[in-house]
Amino acid sequence: MKTLFRDVFYLDGFMARAGRGDLLVDGGVIKSLGSVSEGDAEGAEVVHCGGTKALIPGFVNGHTHAAMTLLRGLGEEKPLKQWLEERIWPVEACLSPEDIALGTASAILEMVKTGTTCFADMYFEMEEVGKKALEAGVRCGLSRGIIGENEASLSEGLRLADRFDGEDLVTVQLGPHAPYTVPLGFYREVVGAARDRGMGVHTHFLEASWERTHLEENLGLDPVSFLEKSGILDAPSAILAHCVWLGAREARKITGSSVTIAHNPSSNLKLGSGIAPVPDFLAGGLPVALGTDGAASNNRLDVWEEMRLAALLNKGVRLDPTCCTAREVLRMATFDGAKALGFQRCGRILEGWNADVVLVDLDQPHYVGHEPATLAQFLVYAGSSADVCGTMVAGKWVYRNGEYPTLDASGIGEKVRRARTDLCLRAQGRG
Ligand SMILES: [Zn+2]
Repeated sequence: MKTLFRDVFYLDGFMARAGRGDLLVDGGVIKSLGSVSEGDAEGAEVVHCGGTKALIPGFVNGHTHAAMTLLRGLGEEKPLKQWLEERIWPVEACLSPEDIALGTASAILEMVKTGTTCFADMYFEMEEVGKKALEAGVRCGLSRGIIGENEASLSEGLRLADRFDGEDLVTVQLGPHAPYTVPLGFYREVVGAARDRGMGVHTHFLEASWERTHLEENLGLDPVSFLEKSGILDAPSAILAHCVWLGAREARKITGSSVTIAHNPSSNLKLGSGIAPVPDFLAGGLPVALGTDGAASNNRLDVWEEMRLAALLNKGVRLDPTCCTAREVLRMATFDGAKALGFQRCGRILEGWNADVVLVDLDQPHYVGHEPATLAQFLVYAGSSADVCGTMVAGKWVYRNGEYPTLDASGIGEKVRRARTDLCLRAQGRG
């Protein structure tokens, strides 16, 4: 399957300048860009862009819990611990594998519509999540969330790696939920298993300020000592979601390790958790991905919005308009997330790289004046996911002009509404 984009703007590999020309997708990858020969383009579907559209790399949601679309709106405006213990965990206990599949499908509809081509998911019944992602044709990193000293969950996580072995669109990580929900000894066992199997780790870290106190009072450890003791710094790769309360000096100490931080600015603001010191992470070269977190704490699954927020928020907090540049947040929202999940050649528009791309409509008032050197800034500061007119993963359309070629959107909508009502009734019954 070939697609030829005629006369399109495309962001270069460093997100610095936009090129303009033709771009050919063939065999799931970007075959050529700039000028494409007639022979190479033969048999391709032609998308005439007429210099009014841009191709940008697909967004990678670096931390989410997709099926939480079913829990959206529950326990609004409560602090993290109370929110989890009183509203979220009791309802999650009632979720069936069918619910997880439906909630995930609903999340995928939202994600592809807003330009996301890949998501890092931590939840349970993860086989259902992986199956839905494959059915939809989107990339994902799967981790079975592990809470407590739970050998069964660990085995499930490991089995998941066997189940999706050889799938190009899926990678699998092990997911110890957080230092406050998994005892250190077992946390080490999980990380050790990841190391033995060459798998990545995906965990929550220092989301709320009390987590630092928890580490000190219960384990006698500062955050860096915990990361060292847990073995996570030597894991093949590790996504630490949040790190709102990680200091600049601590960040420097873990730079150069396997760690990528997943920054979730909306969720951190909404739960009143704080603002992660992202400029400090970036200054030392610590990779940062962007995530939405679950739909119950955001409440959107829109990485474009996280990108804009990350760029603005940190400038305001630091009184420094030069930090978190458009180029930096574009890279965070694309390449850094894909890399952290172990996807090679994803997140840049370059020859030979995976054709995970988003088609953006520039024929709108807020793009007037964009130039090759300023398109990145126009996209981040003036644009929004409402400008997405097509999303492609590995060369296949998963969203185009309001249509979802791989998913039955209206069928999912109806089923998910019913599932949500049933779920709330079951949860009330238990309570
Ligand atoms: Zn989370």
